[in-house]
Amino acid sequence: MSYLDQSIFEIHQAIINGLVTPLELVQEALKLAKEDNNNAFEYICEKEAIEQVKNLDLSKKDNLLWGIPYALKDNLSTKDIPTCASSKILEGYVPVYSAEVYQRLQEQGAILIGKTTLDELSMGGSGTTGHLGKTYNPWDPKHKHQIGGSSCGSAAVCSAGIVPFALGSDTGDSVRKPASYSCLVGLKPTWGRISRYGLFPFAPSMDHIGFFTRNCMDSALILSVLAGHDEKDSTSSTVPVDNYLDIEKTDISKMRIAVIDEIFDSVQDKTIKDAFIKTLNILSDLGLEINHVHMDDKLCRAIYPTYFVISCAEANSNNANQDGIKFGTRYEAEDYEKVMFEARTNGFSEPIKRRFVLGSYALLKENQEDLFLRAQKCRRLIVNCINEILKDNDAIYLPTSPTIAPLFDGNKDKLSNEYLIADNYLAFANMGGQPSINIPIGFKDGLPFGGCFTGRIFEEKTILSLALFLEKHMDFANKIAKKENE
Ligand code: GLN
Repeated sequence: MSYLDQSIFEIHQAIINGLVTPLELVQEALKLAKEDNNNAFEYICEKEAIEQVKNLDLSKKDNLLWGIPYALKDNLSTKDIPTCASSKILEGYVPVYSAEVYQRLQEQGAILIGKTTLDELSMGGSGTTGHLGKTYNPWDPKHKHQIGGSSCGSAAVCSAGIVPFALGSDTGDSVRKPASYSCLVGLKPTWGRISRYGLFPFAPSMDHIGFFTRNCMDSALILSVLAGHDEKDSTSSTVPVDNYLDIEKTDISKMRIAVIDEIFDSVQDKTIKDAFIKTLNILSDLGLEINHVHMDDKLCRAIYPTYFVISCAEANSNNANQDGIKFGTRYEAEDYEKVMFEARTNGFSEPIKRRFVLGSYALLKENQEDLFLRAQKCRRLIVNCINEILKDNDAIYLPTSPTIAPLFDGNKDKLSNEYLIADNYLAFANMGGQPSINIPIGFKDGLPFGGCFTGRIFEEKTILSLALFLEKHMDFANKIAKKENE
């Protein structure tokens, strides 16, 4: 039996009881990381992890994360550890400072064992666009299905049992979607709840750091360590941090849950619909009020294009510093412009360039009113609509994705309601900054799928409590892909 398959609380207990040492855990995690066949790692921190574990401060032994191995998405800055956001343009870049989340985890005594793959610079949802190629879904040993992205590697290492938790980032859905495709709890807290200091920006007004765990209590634990103001990130909030560890005590029976019919109705898959309704029934059996609410169909269809215009515009300006001089691979040429031209031409892949073209087109003076500003106005309408629903309801609950993990060579009808609405609505919580969580609610053809609760800003406890309640009434917590596949 591997302790790494257990929950963080169980591993902690095993350490306290002397059943396993942090060094043994880290050695096991490193061994599994090296054997990983899902292409989930950018960099395995072997030397660094062993050194850290040997110097662990014994007086911190009671910290729940002390000696626990974990992984970080490779868009989180780690001092002296290569970080390239799976982009060729950043190959060879070694940061000179660390992300706040990394520092907080180090202070707790958690041990970083690796940096994980992503869709290049976090732009993507398939786990296929990073410079190392596809990341595979551990739930499909034949490697035909995606794990989703952009936090593909972090989802893969957590669901494969290499580490009990891993950090990712979510600008449109990049933690919740892969969590749904790999039987994980994936939480994106309120914008500003966790410092983004040291997160490579994609679209900062919608970027969130989030994380993957295999159960809700572990998710609450990671949030309790990462949440809180950081003076290095002026957008991080000073709202007091709740005690997330007592979510078990929350009385959810009087809560009100909204299901947005237009979004639910655009899901086609019967297995997913049925499983979702089953979870709704579990909630209503406890006494929760389920309200079917509406969102204008046009507004539903506008979520994805609005997200896309704003995120591409922000990505374009935030990546202007990638000039081939400050970071990563250097191309020799006679002047600054040519160096930059070579670096950007060779360093970014086609999908990234397309997004930059779209972003700069939307930001062009003559197009701004029509594209960028229109998207901003639309964002306001979407956020108002969601906040209006959340005035009368404690949370919005919907299937996270209309499908199980897609095939690598599958085709989607990109003009269908299923794609435009059910497959891409999650971004509404990025536009409004609300906390949002995926929990596994079913399996189809051996592959998992999830449900997603979105709550009012700073009410992470509400969605964690709801998710925990469902988790206890189902049998999807702490599942490890390889075990189920054996
Ligand atoms: N899949 C979305 C995109 O392609 C979201 C990415 C993200 O959340 N980082 O942009």
